[in-house]
Amino acid sequence: ALFERIEASDDTIGSFLFVNKEAAIEQAEKLDQLQQEDKMTGALFGVPMGIKDNICTKDILTTCASRMLEDFNPVYDATVMEKLNEDNAVLMGKQNMDEFAMGGSTENSYFKITRNPWDQKAVPGGSSGGSAAAVAAGFVPFSLGSDTGGSVRQPAAFCGVVGMKPTYGRVSRYGLVAFASSLDQIGPITRNVRDNAKILEHISGSHTKDATSVPNMDNDFLGGIDKDISGMKIAVPKEFMESVDSEVSDSVKKAVETFKSMGATVEEVSIPHTKYVVSAYYLIASSEASSNLARFDGIRYGYKAEGAETLEEHYKKTRAEGFGDEVKRRILLGTFVLSSGHYDQHYIRAQKLRSIIEDEMKGVFKEYDLIIGPTTPTAAYDLGEKADNQLKMYKDDILTVPANLTGMPALSIPSGLASSGRPLGLQLIGDHFDEKKIYNAAYKFE
Ligand code: GLN
Repeated sequence: ALFERIEASDDTIGSFLFVNKEAAIEQAEKLDQLQQEDKMTGALFGVPMGIKDNICTKDILTTCASRMLEDFNPVYDATVMEKLNEDNAVLMGKQNMDEFAMGGSTENSYFKITRNPWDQKAVPGGSSGGSAAAVAAGFVPFSLGSDTGGSVRQPAAFCGVVGMKPTYGRVSRYGLVAFASSLDQIGPITRNVRDNAKILEHISGSHTKDATSVPNMDNDFLGGIDKDISGMKIAVPKEFMESVDSEVSDSVKKAVETFKSMGATVEEVSIPHTKYVVSAYYLIASSEASSNLARFDGIRYGYKAEGAETLEEHYKKTRAEGFGDEVKRRILLGTFVLSSGHYDQHYIRAQKLRSIIEDEMKGVFKEYDLIIGPTTPTAAYDLGEKADNQLKMYKDDILTVPANLTGMPALSIPSGLASSGRPLGLQLIGDHFDEKKIYNAAYKFE
């Protein structure tokens, strides 16, 4: 039934880059057989899923929506895929995204754009736009995205679904094609909070090949999810409410009233360095990207340019033809920032800002359980509206990048509609490894 739905409407939505129909139906038939024999195993037995196309799926195309990896079939599964396969979830296909996860509208995909299922003139957000659109369109009950500076939460907000960026280290990044390794996390996109908590339970866990993943964590998020939240202390940073649309701040104010009516205390706080987070993020993310993307040299992976006469020419031609404009822009910026003479002035200062933001947010969590605010400054905008204005698009990330810079967990949940009829998102940020508290509060809000 889901494949029928996908065939009927994904031509217009464009959420899938690859539909895994034959293999999925074959797997589903095997699972049906096991069910008849009363041999059901795996916590997600038969549950259909979509996966962002920068997460490695063994022998299944993983393109990162880039010409560079147009024909790339990984030889291994990402840790999250190993886990979901063990749980007997069924892969429906791979999802569109901004090339190498760089962007906020999915307009940077080499292959195609994705439309917002709520309003096909609007962007779905990005970079996990295909994943969020597929869940919103009812093609899959859950999907995985990756979030380096908001790429799970922002598209979730634009598409009216639930998206979590877990604590850095909660989920293994092994097999996620690296963008900015100190910021990247994989997270679930679902239609409701409970499903989100369940999927996170099943993808959490470390891998020896990701030294930054944390072993032996308590990954139970569903136990007590409906617990009373009276007495919970919630902070709203005043900087998060400035320079957002009035409809957006109104929707947060409404959520504040709802939390208060449930017995929570909600107070205004200040995170003074918020105004620098976008600058710090783009310097750090681009620096790491310029280093991570050096591996795409036309020899080891993917696209190989024809006709070069020297090795250096081969590198240049391959990278000039294989990468899109936004990826090149980040590599140029990152290489510049890391070059001698600029390193101290830009990279080191960005890292200092990163620790200041962490101190300020840690300070809030000494007194409060959660921070809430909007996920994005506006609802989804029209396709093409910001495509040629990178600075404007970068600035929109002000509300999502603090969680990545600090490694803290953050969830976006639907929070009503703008007057345009497009969805708005409410963001709940927790202290490190406090996902359980976030889900508890979010569940009450549904
Ligand atoms: N919009 C941000 C960027 O372009 C975030 C991307 C992400 O989280 N992958 O870098």
